[in-house]
Amino acid sequence: MEVVQKEESRQENRMRLEFASLSCNESFARVVVGAFVARMDPTVEEMEDVKTAVSEAVTNAIIHGYKNAVGTVVIEAAAHGRQLTVCVADTGIGIEDIEKAMEPLYSGTEGEGRSGMGFSFMEAFMDTLEVESAPGKGTRVTMTKIFGRRIYE
Ligand code: ATP
Ligand code: MG
Repeated sequence: MEVVQKEESRQENRMRLEFASLSCNESFARVVVGAFVARMDPTVEEMEDVKTAVSEAVTNAIIHGYKNAVGTVVIEAAAHGRQLTVCVADTGIGIEDIEKAMEPLYSGTEGEGRSGMGFSFMEAFMDTLEVESAPGKGTRVTMTKIFGRRIYE
C-alpha cells in the first residue's frame, strides 16, 4: 500500500460560520476562529491578535450593524500557507462614512461608553484591513495576517 503524506500545514483550508447576532455569540465566534487558526501553528501572541481583531469586528456587527434587531453574522476564514484571511460580514444598517468610522477614537454611538477603538485594534493586530459597507445593505470587514513574519523579516 502506498502511503501518501499530506503536508497539512501547507494545505489550503477554509471555513464558513453563520450565527445569530446575539452578544453570547461573541465568545463563540472567538473560540471557533481560534480553533481554525490553531492549525496554522501561530504563536500565542499571533493567536491573541487574531481573536481580538475578530471579536472587535463581530461586536461591531452585532451592536452597530443590527442594533436591537437579530440578524445573521457570517465569518469566512481561509488559510493559504502561512497567510490567514478572515472576513466578518453583516447585512445590517451599514456605514455612511467609512473613513470617518475608521478614525481612532471615533464612535458613531454617543453616551454608550464606546471608545471608538475597534477599527484601530483591527488595524494594529492584523497586517491588512479592508472595510466595505453600504448604508442599508451591510458591512464586510476583511483582514489578513501572515504568521511567523517577524522571524523572516
Ligand atoms: P469600540 O469598538 O471601541 O467599543 P466603536 O465600536 O464605536 O467603539 P469602532 O469599532 O472603531 O468603534 O467603530 C467605529 C464606528 O463605526 C462605530 O461607532 C459605528 O458607528 C461604525 N461601525 C463599525 N462597524 C459597523 C457595522 N458593522 N455596522 C454599522 N456601523 C458600524
Ligand atoms: Mg467597535
